[in-house]
Amino acid sequence: MDDYKISRTTRTCAKCEAAFSRGDSFFSTVMDTTEGFQRMDFCPKCWEAVADDEKKKLFSFWKAGIRPKGAPKHRKLDMETAKEFFIRLHGSADADKKNFLYLLTLLILRKRGLVHKTTIREDGGEVLVLHFPKEEDTLYYVKSPPLDEAALEAVKADFSELLDMEL
Ligand SMILES: [Zn+2]
Repeated sequence: MDDYKISRTTRTCAKCEAAFSRGDSFFSTVMDTTEGFQRMDFCPKCWEAVADDEKKKLFSFWKAGIRPKGAPKHRKLDMETAKEFFIRLHGSADADKKNFLYLLTLLILRKRGLVHKTTIREDGGEVLVLHFPKEEDTLYYVKSPPLDEAALEAVKADFSELLDMEL
């Protein structure tokens, strides 16, 4: 896990380098690179200029903003972004992404955004069988990763920072 890098929000536009201030809206993106997930933020004007083809290559993006004083550090989980992220992570064979997937699964389950159908035992581990509400025909299989509590907490902190979400 040590070589896995996540770039944190810079609070500046990746293109024109304008600094965001409180109350500004901007767009946050996550790109999947060979170095791991890369986070980039764009001001609305530069975001407009990003071609749709480029947007399709992104792992995820969402509209963000700098929270007013006193607001929680991270935004609340946005189920639509979380679902999209879940589906994308589910298609990946990468070990780090599988760790993310497991954490995201627990989180979505807690918010009842996923239905836990059953659990399968496999190679001494557990595999959760899940589907989204009202989508019983599409099953997802999520294996619990071989990580201890502390390692999971570290993954959680990274993931929380990447998505700018309270996990
Ligand atoms: Zn800009």
